[in-house]
Amino acid sequence: MSGNYSRIVLASRPRGAVTPDNFRMESVPVPELREGEVLVRNRYLSLDPYMRGRMSASKSYAASQALDETMIGATAGEVVDSRHPRFAPGDAVTGMLGWAEMGVADGAHLRKVDAASAPLSAYLGVLGMPGVTAWYGLNQIILPKPGDTVVVSAASGAVGGVVGQLARLNGCRAVGIAGGPEKCAYVVDELGFDACVDYKLGKVAEDLAVATPDGIDGLFENVGGEVFDAALARMNAFGRIALCGMISGYGGKPVPINNIGSVLVNRLSMRGFIITEHMEVWPQALEELADLVASGQLKYRETIAEGLAAAPEAFIGLLQGRNFGKQLVRMA
Ligand code: NDP
Repeated sequence: MSGNYSRIVLASRPRGAVTPDNFRMESVPVPELREGEVLVRNRYLSLDPYMRGRMSASKSYAASQALDETMIGATAGEVVDSRHPRFAPGDAVTGMLGWAEMGVADGAHLRKVDAASAPLSAYLGVLGMPGVTAWYGLNQIILPKPGDTVVVSAASGAVGGVVGQLARLNGCRAVGIAGGPEKCAYVVDELGFDACVDYKLGKVAEDLAVATPDGIDGLFENVGGEVFDAALARMNAFGRIALCGMISGYGGKPVPINNIGSVLVNRLSMRGFIITEHMEVWPQALEELADLVASGQLKYRETIAEGLAAAPEAFIGLLQGRNFGKQLVRMA
């Protein structure tokens, strides 16, 4: 196939907050396919907090995003042309084709998905990396027991929303922490959490104490900073903490933690994890999540920006909490 497509590259590394001029949109020719490769038209791009880490040059668990290269990102789309035996034009696939309208991938790095049983976009959220992240942190680190209280921050988001619903299905009291009354109402009324604390009211410690009268047995931490500190102070003896993300500190100075002594006093287990290092659990997790979505027991919400050019603003919005559920970009 000949012609050009649009992509967005990293133009410069952010100093502090991400700005639109950290990105550049450009038109590039569609490459020729080599043996084993597949050409995909991307319909959805996933925007995720980890991208902020990749934009910076500091040491992390993964290499930095290269300047002037297509921004990293998960995509869902359809095969246009294939020189790989497992894929044919029209197949729905997910991959890591980045902030681009099209892309070429080694077929070994694409996943065929069933666009008839769930919307294509769901494979980037509840039936993709964020869903598996929730499943892993809860089932492999928090190890929920009926009657436990499980707290999750960024509770209305792609990961957090799944954590609380899975905790409820395990017979736990699920308590969310989220920003603003609209997000909190959604977490309780739509997702079925037992309670949600609006940290933007400025008294997260007091409100969390009311929402967790029996303390916290499992904490799924997505935010860090003050919110994490408040939850640490409510932990019960032998509680478990899945340290998944610390979005409040991305791109800035991490907020100091005062209540770290709770780990010792309460003999807590705390484990950080990176979900792409646990590929062995993905098939089981995805199967369970798909069953729960199909049976209506697992709900999700998306915020969709229209057109690739909208990706930078949508990403900046994600880092400021302007998204409400899984942040995606739709491409024509
Ligand atoms: P979300 O869909 O939850 O979107 C991010 C949310 O974070 C925002 O909507 C906002 O919600 C909240 N937020 C943003 N800035 C702040 C802030 N300064 N203080 C408090 N909250 C803030 O994103 P995901 O579900 O994709 O990711 C959630 C977390 O999980 C992130 O920390 C991410 O890095 C982490 N993650 C980790 C993985 C791993 O392998 N360890 C894999 C996937 C995600 P609100 O308005 O409620 O504040």
